[in-house]
Amino acid sequence: MDNYVLRGADKGLNVRIFAAKTTNMVEKARKIHNTTPLASAALGRSLTAGAIMGLMLKGEKDKLTLQIKGDGPINSIVIVANSKGITKGYVSNPSVDLPLNEKGKLDVSKAVGEGKLTVIKDLNLKEPYVGKSNLVNGEIAEDLTAYFTYSEQQPSAVALGVLVDRDYSIMASGGFILQVMPNAEDEVLSTIENNLRNVSNISKLISIGKEPEDIINMVLDGLDPIIFEKKEIDYKCDCSKDRLEKALIAIGEKDLREILEEDKKAELTCHFCNTSYTFDEKDLKDILKRVKA
Ligand SMILES: [Zn+2]
Repeated sequence: MDNYVLRGADKGLNVRIFAAKTTNMVEKARKIHNTTPLASAALGRSLTAGAIMGLMLKGEKDKLTLQIKGDGPINSIVIVANSKGITKGYVSNPSVDLPLNEKGKLDVSKAVGEGKLTVIKDLNLKEPYVGKSNLVNGEIAEDLTAYFTYSEQQPSAVALGVLVDRDYSIMASGGFILQVMPNAEDEVLSTIENNLRNVSNISKLISIGKEPEDIINMVLDGLDPIIFEKKEIDYKCDCSKDRLEKALIAIGEKDLREILEEDKKAELTCHFCNTSYTFDEKDLKDILKRVKA
């Protein structure tokens, strides 16, 4: 398995942890979207979190959308993931570029800016679950920590990291989400707090060959970690001409008629994989017929 998520816990079940390696998945996304290093870092961190959060869903057909919308130049980040480990995503501005921050790192915080984080969980019920929180600093990991704590009342620790090589390819990417169970012992939590100091640079750890197993062992050092499950994850888009047609129908009869008269065709591009679909005159006429009916 190239890219995977491990689900584990300490022996006393005070916390649960999901640790992921996503280097290849993020590289795939980088190639599709032709992202700058800064956009790769923002997209890669979000993809890692999204993939993990998708696996947290219980139902076969459950789906999760993670949306980060700030006032910075990257504009917005959208990730869609399911409970089977399939993830896709995009950033509105893949060519965003800013000077490194004062620590000499890619300035994801400034690229994202101030705004909101929204999580939509489609659990195949009548209405989807929608949770929102304010962005803390736009670095994504801290924003998600705040989301879990305030919106889901679930105290958590989130670490996400992407290391970009000189040729802009992804050298390392991964992260973890740790969640505190109700009635967790204070002693266990302070042990973890100490351990977390050694795991602050997650992309560096992955770049030197550490695997999710090693990361869980480091975070839960001294607490007899257990691994429950290993799940493969991947970047894949499930778009089709049919699905894009729905977007075309949604623009309404008047605009469709205008496109048909002026351009005689429409070209729609999938945000997630950049595949283009062309609807010719006959397609458009068929669609119009159905809109009227
Ligand atoms: Zn697509």
